[in-house]
Amino acid sequence: MNKQPGRRGILACGLMLLLMTMHVPTKAATTPERNEIEERDKWDLSSMYDSAEAWDRHYREVESMVAALAARQGTLGEGADALRSALELRDAIGVQLEKLQAYAAMRHHEDMRLPGPQGTLQRAETLAVRYGEATAWFQPELLQIPEARLKEWLRAEGLRVYGHYFDDLLRSKAHILSSREEELLAMAGKTTETGDNAFSLLTNTELRRRTVKDPEGAEVEVTSPVFYQALYSKDRRYRRDAFEAYHQGYLDVKSTLAATLAGTMHRDWYYSKARHYGSSLERALDAENLPAGVYHNLIGTIGRHLPLLHRYAALKKRALGLDAVHFYDLYVNLADVPERQYTWAEARTLVLDGIKPFGSEYGAVMRQAFDSRWIDVYANRGKMTGAYNMGTYLSAPYVLLNYTGTFNDVSTVAHELGHAMQSYFAKENQPPVYAGYPMFTAEVASTAAEIVFKRSMLDRAADRKERAFLINQMLEDMRQTVFRQTQFAEFELAAHTLAEKGEPMTAEVFMRIGREIYERYYGPEFVIDPGLEVECLRIPHFYTNYYVHRYANSYCAAAAIARQIMAGNAGAQERWLQFLKTGNSRYALDMLKLAGVDMTTPQPIEEAMALFRQLLDELEPLLEAGGAGQ
Ligand SMILES: [Zn+2]
Repeated sequence: MNKQPGRRGILACGLMLLLMTMHVPTKAATTPERNEIEERDKWDLSSMYDSAEAWDRHYREVESMVAALAARQGTLGEGADALRSALELRDAIGVQLEKLQAYAAMRHHEDMRLPGPQGTLQRAETLAVRYGEATAWFQPELLQIPEARLKEWLRAEGLRVYGHYFDDLLRSKAHILSSREEELLAMAGKTTETGDNAFSLLTNTELRRRTVKDPEGAEVEVTSPVFYQALYSKDRRYRRDAFEAYHQGYLDVKSTLAATLAGTMHRDWYYSKARHYGSSLERALDAENLPAGVYHNLIGTIGRHLPLLHRYAALKKRALGLDAVHFYDLYVNLADVPERQYTWAEARTLVLDGIKPFGSEYGAVMRQAFDSRWIDVYANRGKMTGAYNMGTYLSAPYVLLNYTGTFNDVSTVAHELGHAMQSYFAKENQPPVYAGYPMFTAEVASTAAEIVFKRSMLDRAADRKERAFLINQMLEDMRQTVFRQTQFAEFELAAHTLAEKGEPMTAEVFMRIGREIYERYYGPEFVIDPGLEVECLRIPHFYTNYYVHRYANSYCAAAAIARQIMAGNAGAQERWLQFLKTGNSRYALDMLKLAGVDMTTPQPIEEAMALFRQLLDELEPLLEAGGAGQ
């Protein structure tokens, strides 16, 4: 629950960033300097600030606004007018600070070697921290206004718009403790983070990484990016060696990893109990006003469709001609096609054509993104890797890419522009307080755009090899986003339950749970290597209370919406625009209902499963009739 409007920051989509890091980094020698790239292929930030002096001037203005807000301490309860003007000032600071920060961050990301933009970004971040400190009293003071009085004030012109904001804020009241108790909880903060910190230090610095020979015979150190990249290699020896080398490092320290994970599960349960929640799950979902049923619905519905995943694993085994299928055989594409390259002009045409089912209003904004330089297209020396959308209230929703022309890159364009559309329509239609969007829905707009785009590519694919390649890509998206993240969601639930019941949490216990889930998910044809058992101890997301279910739920919601859009259902386009325009002026589940999906029911998840089955039905004959496979 984002109680600080305007402070949305970078819209990093975790899974996407992870996928992006899999690309082979462009060789430094062939990567151009930024000034060698044509202007039309770089984003145009000049409409935000036309000079360094303009940024500086704005910085000082925001600084004085922060001081003005700090001086309002103790006045919020004086009356409706005092409350309204304080809220408006806070919202204005929120969006202006966001603009200062976003601009500084984007300038920094253009070439991270330059000290100038780095210094500017640090200044913006320092101001944001000072703002946080100077206004830490704001929310507690709002909560002290007697509820009946507040509700009376909210009827006034100018305050009515804050109705949903206060509804959301007041929900948290039941979980706020006395000031002494709050102080004690805050004091415990540093110690309860030890598990998380130790995990991060161990896995990022001290863990022993091994080397293997790559397909060309060169020794490579198996770091995370190298490992995920190796999984897509057609050379099975390399995939297997990389898998084993990568996991051996984690097996070496499995007991330590179990201890850091156990510590984190205990941390989550401690705060949940302290704040009167029945479980860590309840606390995590309550942050977005989601009932725990949404979580169980996902796990239960996917659980009833696991034979589809067994079928997919068995197909991998047959198509690759293997005796047994292992984890390191799952990622490789079954179609034997040389990777196609798409120029930027082709990407533009393909994406704009592909998203036509969303209608002309949506299409016009996306065209503007391409033609008004909202996109920073190519890699240059020193540029940030990966891809993101930076949506702010006072600027265009800019998109950073490192476009190299692969199919994956073109899909990333559709994905990031999908985010940009939501940023755009939300800010155009909402006041600053609601210009963000709920975390639970954050990947829906991007994934729906990506699915509709990929389906259009499939429809235009002429030969069977290209079709097989694209279908395999879509199946892999779903395996990695829906099945794999639900699998993690199951593990998380089991691990939290151990903490809540006070049961032992050793490496053996965790690994047994991880193995049992793998057995159920992938079925009898799948071999579980010792390295795979330790996977559950190396997932960073488990250190953020119940995070991954959003990926799977978002994908299913997006698949259901995409189907309605592509089928041309009456009103589907209008519902979609309404969803994008809602910002966070409603709760996540209500927003999704606007778009025509009810995530408390199995239906959207069943629709995603129907899509998976349909793609499998199409792929099997393509591969087995011969010619398309390898
Ligand atoms: Zn994303």
